[in-house]
Amino acid sequence: MKTHARVVVIGGGIVGVSTLYHLTRKGWSDVTLLERSELTAGSTWHAAGLLPLFNMSYTVGQLHKYSVDLYKRLPAETGQEVGFHVTGNLRLATCRDRMDEYLKYCGTANTIGVPFQIISPAEVKALWPLVNLGDGVDTPKIVGALYHPDDGHIAPVDLTMALRRGARAAGAEVCEQTEVLSVARTAAGEWKIATNHGDIVCEHVVCATGNYARETGRKFGLNVPAIPVEHQYIVYDESAELKAYRTAGGRELAVLRESDASYYLREERMGWILGPYERGAPARFADGVPGTFGKELFPGDLDRLLPHVEAAMKRVPCLEHCGIKTIVNGPIAYTPDGSPLVGPAWGLRNVWLNEGHSFGVTAAGGAGWQLAEWIVEGEPGIDMLGVDPRRYGPYTSKRYTVGKNEEAYRDVFTIHYPDEERAAARPAKTSPIYEKLSQMGAVWGQRYGWERANWFAPPGVARKDVWSFRRSNYFEHVGSECRRMREAVGVIDLTPFTKHEVTGPGAEAWLDSLVANKVPVKPGRIALCHALTKNGGIRSEFTITKLGDQRFYVVSAGAGERYDSDYLRKMLPDDRSVELSNVTTSRGTFVVAGPNAREVLAQLTDAPLDNGSFPWLSGQVIEVGLATDVYALRVNFIGELGWELHFPIEYANGLFDALFAAGCEFGIGMVGMRAMESLRIEKSYRMWGSDLTPEYTPFEASLDRFVRMNKGEFIGQGALARQLAAGVPHRFVTLEVHGVTDADPLGNEPLFANGALVGRATAGCYGHVLGKSLALAYVKPQHAEIGAELEIEILGERRKAAVLGESPFDPENRRLRA
Ligand SMILES: Cc1cc2nc3c(=O)[nH]c(=O)nc-3n(C[C@H](O)[C@H](O)[C@H](O)COP(=O)(O)OP(=O)(O)OC[C@H]3O[C@@H](n4cnc5c(N)ncnc54)[C@H](O)[C@@H]3O)c2cc1C
Repeated sequence: MKTHARVVVIGGGIVGVSTLYHLTRKGWSDVTLLERSELTAGSTWHAAGLLPLFNMSYTVGQLHKYSVDLYKRLPAETGQEVGFHVTGNLRLATCRDRMDEYLKYCGTANTIGVPFQIISPAEVKALWPLVNLGDGVDTPKIVGALYHPDDGHIAPVDLTMALRRGARAAGAEVCEQTEVLSVARTAAGEWKIATNHGDIVCEHVVCATGNYARETGRKFGLNVPAIPVEHQYIVYDESAELKAYRTAGGRELAVLRESDASYYLREERMGWILGPYERGAPARFADGVPGTFGKELFPGDLDRLLPHVEAAMKRVPCLEHCGIKTIVNGPIAYTPDGSPLVGPAWGLRNVWLNEGHSFGVTAAGGAGWQLAEWIVEGEPGIDMLGVDPRRYGPYTSKRYTVGKNEEAYRDVFTIHYPDEERAAARPAKTSPIYEKLSQMGAVWGQRYGWERANWFAPPGVARKDVWSFRRSNYFEHVGSECRRMREAVGVIDLTPFTKHEVTGPGAEAWLDSLVANKVPVKPGRIALCHALTKNGGIRSEFTITKLGDQRFYVVSAGAGERYDSDYLRKMLPDDRSVELSNVTTSRGTFVVAGPNAREVLAQLTDAPLDNGSFPWLSGQVIEVGLATDVYALRVNFIGELGWELHFPIEYANGLFDALFAAGCEFGIGMVGMRAMESLRIEKSYRMWGSDLTPEYTPFEASLDRFVRMNKGEFIGQGALARQLAAGVPHRFVTLEVHGVTDADPLGNEPLFANGALVGRATAGCYGHVLGKSLALAYVKPQHAEIGAELEIEILGERRKAAVLGESPFDPENRRLRA
């Protein structure tokens, strides 16, 4: 083993080896991989080798697509076969909602270029002659299916060896039987990795340790929310029926997934592999992998498998005649949302995670590709927000993670509705007025561990969502909340907002160097500012208020707390001229907005609220009711006269009661997140994480007015200048969608002009006040003119859509300035 390397990768499973391979492809050959046992000894050796392209996530979908393409060309490149059987992949549907899910997925597939077909039951039978289409009595009837012709299954060990061969040929070092025991920072800022074979010092470390992710994390002081869950599959003996079909010239059958019965089935040596995602599969190794657990498996649990086996026997009757050869029950890494952790570790420089992979064979190619890009170039090449490890925060306790990971495993095949809110490990984080809001009918959702009221059920209405891809039970109630906000006054509890205070003599210049807009110069002014990547993509969106001399208050998305905090902290200058404090949990936030907002607030404060004294885009520290030190900001995300009140958290209950007492005569009421979504889309306000991502620059996001190219240097400026010179490839538009009766756009729908793909929607909804179905989208610039006619595909149906002017509701912002 070398004593110094530019990068050390810990873990020799498919994910670590792929990362090593891709680092060499980026030209970094001074890279070393350390494996405590032998390559593939973790979960990789016993993986079933399926490569499903299907994934509802825009990020993960792209990673999977890259992998499948890479694996096809690897044998020619490395001389090592990988056993890739391109059998195709058939996902059955037995109900309309499942079909809706597939159709929703097709939007994502279209936008990322994954080939697929929606097929009829008759076509299912033609592709898969051994299937029983169902009678609707004993076996559910198949109503259709999603077919991916390009994927299939692979030999995970051979694949790992091919990647190793490719990496080694380019100079990488692979050390087996080399266990990382501890890590330390050197005085020069490098990492010293201590192993059973001595030390190695490196610039960057990648953790790709599968089931050991938590232990590896602990060596770095990180609480990594990856805990494995038991996962089983059954290997069957030869099937006479299958053999007969194949002997008669039938081609290898596509991997079959009966999602509604939660299992997959594929051929294996004239027999079958059946893999279910069962209820009750336990998390394992939450406190670490026992030293005694080597290349081992858990005992099979037939009881847990039985319901799936029975369902599969009805669907594929020849299974009844097959004996079981063996049951494989191994640990499969999971995270609370089921997506992996790929990207920088928080709080540490040059430590990277490629952990928590539950479809690791499928994702390894893409995850290695993008992580290498990130390490070498400083930024990933695609939008990686969906897998960024910093999407979780310090709230991922052991019990939270166990509960969520077991749920994520169990729910792999449940229908993932766009308005789904999973139940495990809740409530975790609540605003102080949680109980009050529950009594007011709150129907709760969860984001970043926080409970957030999605909508409020009026008296007599059940506090329950009926999840759907279409308009659902809460539609009219959300509409009422929107109208209340536009016609009277509403309150939104946005306590989860990420909030930082930035102080010190260097604060202004430092913030200014991070964002494309000019940070406010005059105390009391507010500016919307975007921090960019060096490629010019939108990293974060900050509402920056200058509270006083050398003092700024920085607010950003609640789900971005660790992501933003980590970035800001890592960017702090060394000269201590700037101090950063995260005040997220010490300040609550209420939005009070609507035409009557001023009257309500005026009852509770002596601060003059007229336009001259307190104009739009200004902020003051005032008293409201009994609360002192309230940062009152005249901004909001819904486009009404209103204030965001950021108050010391201990005032939450008193302030809330005072607002409702004062607002009673003005029609005050609560407004939830779903209404906020509709209201902000009516104003064309972009949401960080969906509309604003590192994939698009502020020019593409049509946020030109928030970019000051001549203000002095800022991160991403060079890339923006190059883009301006070369031509901005997309523009962000608001569309009215015609002909919608029950399925509004929700984001990730493809847009077409004259049959050609010209863009993608990033959000959509019914605009309850405008009375229009709306979408926000990136389109090629020639289709961005007001009035341009496009088509948008929603759940498989193309609808006419026309480009509207920015902010279709109150385009002149009269209400904000009222
Ligand atoms: C039964 C089963 C079936 C599956 N089927 C599929 C499938 O069909 N398709 C699919 O995509 N995925 C499948 N998976 C999941 C897949 O196996 C994993 O996602 C994948 O193998 C993870 O790879 P990895 O490299 O992250 O982890 P691992 O393969 O577990 O590798 C991690 C490595 O890190 C090493 N390590 C840990 N700590 C240290 C240390 N301190 N020092 C040095 N080395 C260390 C370990 O020894 C290990 O070799 C399946 C999993 C199971 C359990």
